[in-house]
Amino acid sequence: MATALVLVTTADGAADDVSQQALTFARGLAAGGPVHALVVAGEPGAEGVPAEAVAAGLGTWGAAQAHLARHPAFETFAPDAIAAVLTELAARLDAGVVIGPGTEAGNTVLARAAARDGQPFAANCTAVTLGSPTQVTRQRWGGTLQEEAALRGDRAFFTVAPHAVSAAAVEASPAAVDAFTPDIDDADLIVRVVDRVAAAVGGISLAEAKVVVSGGRGVGSADGFRPIEELAGLLGAAVGCSRAVTISGWRSHVDQVGQTGTKIAPNLYIAAGISGATQHMAGAKGAKKILAINKDAEAPIMAAADYAVIGDLHQVVPAISAEIRRVRGT
Ligand SMILES: Cc1cc2nc3c(=O)[nH]c(=O)nc-3n(C[C@H](O)[C@H](O)[C@H](O)COP(=O)(O)OP(=O)(O)OC[C@H]3O[C@@H](n4cnc5c(N)ncnc54)[C@H](O)[C@@H]3O)c2cc1C
Repeated sequence: MATALVLVTTADGAADDVSQQALTFARGLAAGGPVHALVVAGEPGAEGVPAEAVAAGLGTWGAAQAHLARHPAFETFAPDAIAAVLTELAARLDAGVVIGPGTEAGNTVLARAAARDGQPFAANCTAVTLGSPTQVTRQRWGGTLQEEAALRGDRAFFTVAPHAVSAAAVEASPAAVDAFTPDIDDADLIVRVVDRVAAAVGGISLAEAKVVVSGGRGVGSADGFRPIEELAGLLGAAVGCSRAVTISGWRSHVDQVGQTGTKIAPNLYIAAGISGATQHMAGAKGAKKILAINKDAEAPIMAAADYAVIGDLHQVVPAISAEIRRVRGT
């Protein structure tokens, strides 16, 4: 039996889906041992559902005790400050395992917490066997690879991959809530979210689109995307891109397809000037058909492509649009 401590992140006044799954996972691992949860919140009154109610509600997912850290710093996402609270609480509870949701936020905080505690950390685990060492199976490369790894340390820090388990509610009373105000060091507030910019709305959602037309480094510039946008418009498609494009500042990250972007599942994926790196294909493998437009017949994307046009995208893409217009008589 181990004492488990779970970092819970919230959405719409309750533990979010992946945190519910992490609590379910923790219950199995603790094997009857106590499951504690940590929730952080800003000043009372700012939130829709009071954080105390959110914390008490974690009993539904098997947390016997919920620790609610209230601090103005937690009005926004401040990963080092959350990691500091998590590490101190883990030590106070003598937790054998510290678990988080396998999300950007969960992985960011747990990695920092483990580093503070001088312990190893494994992200996106699908199976864990506690012991010396603790054995984990974790997802790598956007879920395309399952890796067996061993964690050697006094305390195991890991996150649970989304959908590694189904969230299972328990017949339980509300969790006991221990609310406290942590001391936060200014140095732990250097990394924090200071502004949020809403993604441009309108157009077709990349994740839902039936057709996606993407451009990569081969497009050459932000302006170079005009013919891609034109073709997407004719096909009722969403526009996507590779990370080389977002890093170059040609398009926003919301358009990025891949392991660190959006996972797409269109009927047709047109990839122009994209080499087909593993991390890009991790987001495109749900496409039913892939048309690659590339001047390099040896580009890795050719291995995944159902159709290919070997040529200069600056000629091929406008030619496809012109042909569509010709056939439609527009
Ligand atoms: C941890 C990690 C996460 C990552 N996550 C992602 C991710 O989510 N999404 C992603 O896309 N990448 C991701 N990457 C980056 C990935 O490894 C590649 O570097 C990136 O996908 C390359 O983008 P690209 O194909 O546009 O560029 P390149 O690899 O430079 O390929 C450009 C292609 O365009 C072709 N080309 C050039 N000019 C023309 C032309 N005129 N006409 C036709 N073809 C032309 C070239 O032949 C080449 O095949 C990640 C990397 C790491 C390390």
